[in-house]
Amino acid sequence: MNARTAPTVIELPAPVAIDRVELIRVRLPLVIPFETIHGILENREVLLVHVVGPHTEGWGECSALPTIGYAREDLDGAHRAVRDVFAPLLVGDTDVAADRLPDEPRHPMARAAIEMALLDAQLRPTGFSLRTLLGADAETAPAGATLGLGGGSAALADQAEQAVADGYLRLKCKIEPGRDADRLEAVRERVGSDVELAADANGTYASANAVPRVLDELSLQCLEQPLAADDLPGLAKLTRERSTLVALDETATSVATAEAALDADSGNAVVLKAARLGGVLEAYRLHDLCRGRGIPLIPGGLLESGVGRAAALAVAALPGCTLTGDLAASDRYFAEDVTEPFVLDDGHLRVPDGPGLGVTPRADVLAAHTVATETVRA
Ligand code: MG
Repeated sequence: MNARTAPTVIELPAPVAIDRVELIRVRLPLVIPFETIHGILENREVLLVHVVGPHTEGWGECSALPTIGYAREDLDGAHRAVRDVFAPLLVGDTDVAADRLPDEPRHPMARAAIEMALLDAQLRPTGFSLRTLLGADAETAPAGATLGLGGGSAALADQAEQAVADGYLRLKCKIEPGRDADRLEAVRERVGSDVELAADANGTYASANAVPRVLDELSLQCLEQPLAADDLPGLAKLTRERSTLVALDETATSVATAEAALDADSGNAVVLKAARLGGVLEAYRLHDLCRGRGIPLIPGGLLESGVGRAAALAVAALPGCTLTGDLAASDRYFAEDVTEPFVLDDGHLRVPDGPGLGVTPRADVLAAHTVATETVRA
């Protein structure tokens, strides 16, 4: 067993006063409907959190999905947790700070949204960016495109070819039992061997033996979450017997669960998503744990709007994120992003470096896509 890594401490800026928390539900039509085992998304609805105080403000995004499946938290449940559990802790006479939020294991995505907004609010007066706070040096992150389960192999190969033509350096295909090797082979044949290709099964194989051995012949960057989140013995068997990297996504809901999986040799790569982990600070701690053990990290995404994408890119800039991940330009998801759009430049996205998140929603876009608002005050 590897030695445990000491918890990492980031020195945060001073706590801030918050008078009100605005909850803004935004619905953005997706340019390409996204099909996973959990259903088809035609619109991406997210909750934006705006914390406002006398001297600062900050934005966060809750990227919970509309239904339970990927996570045990859906958007409505996360919304209620932001409103009823977290927001009341922020507003009032006492200054608040992102590293003093309580753990709330049932609501990691709600917690992550509030933490993001507080980090933004604490950082803005200092002029420092989230990227700088994390000590992340990379100014850009390589971009990847995720291809859903919709359509047959030929249509998938067409989508893959287009994404490569658009400049994406890595393709990730959603797979499930019976819709796996053929699809990946069709993509590999169409885009050639130079493009990084990954597969994500979202835990749908029943056992290690159910995962086709032919996947090892496709030079995949990784196979993400082949088995159920808690099937550590099965994941260990795959990690031991197959040559493809086994990347943990749904398994790694906290540093503790990731550490238990890595202790059991149940995976040899980790997908880093702050939303799944309860926030950027826990993502930072997981990054340190993995880096200390030589486990490569893959930056993940959940079809965030520009607010969540800014935070995801700061995390992607961490030095342990050595494998290209999920993050794509705004126009792959939305005709109009809530922030200034993130654009591809030579296959990369710029990591924001302005104060805090380095982005702010545009009022006209918010007005056009907001479906509901609520405000929590002291
Ligand atoms: Mg995944």
